Amino acid sequence: MKNNQHSVETFKAGTKNKNQFLKFKIDLGNFIDELKKRLKNNKKEIKKLLKIENKTYANFVKPMQIMEEELDEFFTPLSHVNAVNNSKKTQKVYTKSLPIITEYSTKLSQNIDIYKAYKKIQNSEEKNLNQEQNRVLELNILNFELSGAHLDQKIKARLQEINIKKSELSNNFSQNLLDATNAYEYIITDAKDIKGIPKSDLQNARFKEGTKTKYRFTLQMPSYIAYMTYGKNAKIRKKLYKAYVTRAPKNAQIIDELLSLRNEMSKLLGFNNYASYSLVSKMAKDEKSVLDFLNTLKSNSINQAKQELQTLQKISPKSLKSFDTTFYAEILKKEKYDLDEELYRPYFEQKSVVKGMFEFLNKLFGISFKKVDEKLWDKKAFAYDLYLNDKLKARLYLDLEARKSKRGGAWMHNWQTHCTDLKGNEQLASAFIVCNFPASSSENPSLLRHDDVVTLFHETGHAIHHMLSDVNENEVSGVNGVEWDAVEFPSQFLENFAYEPNVLKLFAKHYETGEIISDEMINKLVKSKNFLSAIGMLRQLEFSIFDFTLHTKLYQGKEVQNLLNKIRKNTALIKAPSYNKFQNGFAHIFAGGYAAGYYSYKWAEVLSADAYFSVIDEGIFGSKTAKNYLDVILKNGGSSSMEVLFKKFLQREPNPENLLRLNGIQ
Ligand SMILES: [Zn+2]
Repeated sequence: MKNNQHSVETFKAGTKNKNQFLKFKIDLGNFIDELKKRLKNNKKEIKKLLKIENKTYANFVKPMQIMEEELDEFFTPLSHVNAVNNSKKTQKVYTKSLPIITEYSTKLSQNIDIYKAYKKIQNSEEKNLNQEQNRVLELNILNFELSGAHLDQKIKARLQEINIKKSELSNNFSQNLLDATNAYEYIITDAKDIKGIPKSDLQNARFKEGTKTKYRFTLQMPSYIAYMTYGKNAKIRKKLYKAYVTRAPKNAQIIDELLSLRNEMSKLLGFNNYASYSLVSKMAKDEKSVLDFLNTLKSNSINQAKQELQTLQKISPKSLKSFDTTFYAEILKKEKYDLDEELYRPYFEQKSVVKGMFEFLNKLFGISFKKVDEKLWDKKAFAYDLYLNDKLKARLYLDLEARKSKRGGAWMHNWQTHCTDLKGNEQLASAFIVCNFPASSSENPSLLRHDDVVTLFHETGHAIHHMLSDVNENEVSGVNGVEWDAVEFPSQFLENFAYEPNVLKLFAKHYETGEIISDEMINKLVKSKNFLSAIGMLRQLEFSIFDFTLHTKLYQGKEVQNLLNKIRKNTALIKAPSYNKFQNGFAHIFAGGYAAGYYSYKWAEVLSADAYFSVIDEGIFGSKTAKNYLDVILKNGGSSSMEVLFKKFLQREPNPENLLRLNGIQ
């Protein structure tokens, strides 16, 4: 979803302002009224468009597209402020606006008249339209069909019912999980049980009861992981682990209902199962391709994973259990690489990292960034204009520091999209990058962990994919229209460079002494990157294979657990205890968008690893392949399937071996 409150004035004045970028402004008080007004106008406009006798791409599809773009541009600042400057007020306006906009888009996606018009235009104009325009038609028609626009009224009504029920169930799934996570705590009173746990983690756990100092550990990620990684008392680790993997037993019922509804929906839409429904809009061809891909990775990783486990077993006095692995892995990592993460932070001062990353992008792609003086939603947020070979191309907003009112995690959010408007004028793209790095103050700079540097590169990879688009049709420009299992390609591609010595040396300077990071430090970082990577790979494959197989036919009740047990026989080298109900917490597929799509992470990693090594092998800077990547992958956005673009980019099929190479699996 997208943008701006103020676009009204801007559009009315007819000056989408001289440098083409919308001003970031939002009027929460009037937002709902303005939204309703816009939707009403859109509906009127659609009626008018539908009355056109000789509908063409130019007089029907293009105005429909621009209408959606403007609605997105209006809406994005609301979802953005709600995520980065969250308050009772933003929540209220956002919660109120969601059903309004959802109802509007659901009705639009089931509108048979628009669907028919698109089909007719496709029939009559296909040969005269360009690739981008044909792709717009193709994806829209597919979307209408996946919403059931072409089916009879009774089925449509049932599909709507299923959709509403599904969203309710998903919401309950994550609420149950959140409640269960928050309901548990383990209190430590004996000081010997907290030995070895880092200071900052202890600070968060410590509390006073009377005169006694105690420590509270919970199932929230940072707390849970801290004890599982550093907690010496195996009994406590076991208790925490058991509490974690038995959360939300109520979700078993929801899983059954969701699986059943997904199955029914897919059948109503003419598919054998949910997996094949999900694949229609993805890059992977069919069920077999996905499962073959995952199983090949599995057989390639299993021997190394066994060896890794043996090494890990050697440092443990007892036979390793599920609740031991993280703890002993940490000991082994220290032993093997002599790596202390804290020593790296002074080398990754935030401003220096951003500057260095811009310099890297300049050397790789010839793009440059210039800071823009613009008042934004927070004084720690900054705008930059992006130039490609000295031509203004896009605007980037960086909001990198954590604060109370900001949602956790990191993400890229696209706002404006590169396209031509109704008059044929070029519109430039813009995007936000949001992270939660340590906050800077007048006394202390924001010092990043190396992981944070990787995150910044990742989100920037998404952002330049959106901003460097040359496509003229907004619905397939930038990240729009890119297949779900390919969308992480540009982000993973860029994040790999955060481990390259020549890239690190551009910005990893000690913030006090100015000393550049030593080769020895870089070496340790690079070597430890693939620590226990085969075990990690197997775990991801377990999730992927379970998710995908679960959606190939209807599994209910005990069948779900039986399926997971069967898959684990080949992926889990340490047998999970029978009380482990991992599935009840698998929010990605039961409360997120990843159903029958968890494999996407690994799928896109094949593309990114392949592209990355091609650039590395040419010595990074001055690489022809990097130039080609810009011209073929980035500039073309979603205007062709990634399969087609990739072949054009490297003149061959993706090579999965590079995924293994990237993960250090031989
Ligand atoms: Zn990503």
